[in-house]
Order: sequence, then structure tokens, then C-alpha cells
Amino acid sequence: MAPATKNARFHYRIYDGDDTHDLTHIHPVPHLLCSNSQPQDKRYRDTFRETFSAVNAKTHNDVMAKVSHPCIKCGKPVKDTIKSPMVYLRLPEPMVIVMAMPSCGGRICDAQILNDMQVMGSQKVERLRMEKDAYLQ
Ligand SMILES: [Zn+2]
Repeated sequence: MAPATKNARFHYRIYDGDDTHDLTHIHPVPHLLCSNSQPQDKRYRDTFRETFSAVNAKTHNDVMAKVSHPCIKCGKPVKDTIKSPMVYLRLPEPMVIVMAMPSCGGRICDAQILNDMQVMGSQKVERLRMEKDAYLQ
């Protein structure tokens, strides 16, 4: 029988004002996420969401320890980070790259930061995809 979990590297890239910090954690993830399951499959999505929030809960203190700037939008103290995962769990060495942006937790700031991440994400994701593709060739 295949093992139930596989170790995956969660690489956090934390955008802290003008600084960028990196943090890597290894966590076991359900084997289902590393197999050929379709990401549009509900069971896959639910399993990923549960796994990702469990990993984020475990890494929360380490991520927050890296944050030294206040909320980029309003200058209030940072409460949490908004996270956007890029999932490469089907690689021989499974990994998830997590963009993390600190926020005060205010609704307007959260929405603006999320929007920034989507804009930035579409550029960075493309670049990271190219790097990953180059790495796989
Ligand atoms: Zn704010």
C-alpha cells in the first residue's frame, strides 16, 4: 500500500514592505495531493484547503516573526498575512510556493492587498512557472 502522506516543501515568500523574506517548512501532505488527481476534483480541493490551513496554522508564528513593517495600506500593526499558494505537489519533490502579504486585517486593506497580489501574481506566477519549467527540462 502506498504511504498515506508525502513530505512537501512549503516555501513562503513574505512581502514585507520593500523587503522580501523567505521561509521554508517541510510538512507531510496527504498522498492524494501528490498523485494524479484532478485539481478541479472536489475531494482534491477540500483536502488541499484543509492541509493548507493546517500548515498555515503551524507556520503562522514563524511567518509573523519575519514581518517588521506595518500594514502597507494603512500603517496599522499587522495581524496576519494574506496567502496565495502556487501548487507543485506532483513534482518528484513536492512543493508549494506561498506568496504572503502582511495586512492589518481590515476589510478594505485585505481586499486591496488581495488585488495587488493577483496583479503581482499573474506576473510572478508566470516567471516562476518559466523557472520551474526550465528546472524540469
Ligand atoms: Zn491596513
